[in-house]
Amino acid sequence: MSVRHVEISGAGFAGLTAAAAFAQRGWTVRVHERAPNLRTAGAGIFIFENGLKVLQAIGAYDDAVRGAHLTPARETRNAEGKLLARHPSRPNQRVYTIVRQQLLEAVADAARRAGAQILMGSEVVGATPAGVVSLSSGEMAKADLVIAADGVHSRIRDSQGLVRSRVKLGDGAIRILLPRNNDATDSIEEIVEHWSGKHRLLYVPCSKDWLYLALTTLNSDVEGKSLPLNTKAWGASFPHLRQLIDRIGNEGRWDEFEMIHLHRWSSGRVAVVGDAAHAQAPNLGQGGGCAMMNALGLAVAVEKEQDIQIALQQWEARERPLIEHTQRVSRLYSTVGRLPDSLRSVVFSFAGRSRWMVQQRMRTANHCPTGAL
Ligand SMILES: Cc1cc2nc3c(=O)[nH]c(=O)nc-3n(C[C@H](O)[C@H](O)[C@H](O)COP(=O)(O)OP(=O)(O)OC[C@H]3O[C@@H](n4cnc5c(N)ncnc54)[C@H](O)[C@@H]3O)c2cc1C
Repeated sequence: MSVRHVEISGAGFAGLTAAAAFAQRGWTVRVHERAPNLRTAGAGIFIFENGLKVLQAIGAYDDAVRGAHLTPARETRNAEGKLLARHPSRPNQRVYTIVRQQLLEAVADAARRAGAQILMGSEVVGATPAGVVSLSSGEMAKADLVIAADGVHSRIRDSQGLVRSRVKLGDGAIRILLPRNNDATDSIEEIVEHWSGKHRLLYVPCSKDWLYLALTTLNSDVEGKSLPLNTKAWGASFPHLRQLIDRIGNEGRWDEFEMIHLHRWSSGRVAVVGDAAHAQAPNLGQGGGCAMMNALGLAVAVEKEQDIQIALQQWEARERPLIEHTQRVSRLYSTVGRLPDSLRSVVFSFAGRSRWMVQQRMRTANHCPTGAL
């Protein structure tokens, strides 16, 4: 059988995972990244058991978790710091929190080791269902499969008319990476989600050197989402964290959350994966996990079935229900976040103790991805 070829648009978690997984299955792989360098937006990232299994399958695990933070527990606390829920990690339900750049480079290195070519400063401007990509350089290339892993604003997806809905969720986050001082402001090793009114402050150790903070609020909260961070407003919401908030300075970027559903995840020889196909609010910390799972699942699908059209249908039928479940639960969490403080505390406290609700929230994390070892 002749060697098959894939062209991938986007060197984020979806595109690079696909690159590694396809190259490991004997495909020739070319990834196009329009940015001049391999850089990821944001600060730290949660990788649950499902994502860790994908990293293991593509040979990126050791580099990804080296020095990263294996969290002992995740906690939810109210404005006074009172504990509402605590989820201790178990050996088979690990959560690593990792500096994003480290994770991205680990996946890119695995892809290169497998033989994938990653071209920086290479922008994809179009693709056809016949499997032809056009680049901004004027080059056109034919492939057995084109993968659109080009994020929420995916140009290829839009050119194929695949979008069913694209909803701005009305909230967003400022993300910051701070060096750890190992003083009273950052000595806690648990991940803690602090809630106060519309403000949420997520405290996330990522390694012994780095602390990741995500400050979530409504898009309509002009004061809360302003940059540099309005330390007065955030300090007023979390008086017990004021010293930590005062350390933030000019760091940070704001991103609004959105959710994307497509009519189909493919069009002819073009497959759409990652945020381009199924962006979600980050409340479950699973957008990247789903992007990586789905990219690996795609490589497995086309390995097992030679007919690309059939393989793409089988891939979508197998992977889509869980990813849509993740999107739904994540959105529900946003809705609960908007409840008044007292009611939200009751809901979180109940949800933390309800076995069924914990199962719904953790279903993706506990899932064994297609192609995992
Ligand atoms: C506040 C926040 C917190 C989050 N926290 C977590 C978390 O803890 N855990 C988790 O799993 N997920 C998390 N996520 C979600 C996660 O960041 C995304 O789901 C993930 O980055 C999606 O990866 P991707 O590869 O699909 O897209 P992207 O990371 O957006 O990558 C797309 C790439 O394509 C490139 N590109 C775009 N257009 C072109 C083109 N025309 N040609 C060539 N290249 C192109 C872009 O430059 C980019 O590099 C969070 C998201 C947010 C907003």
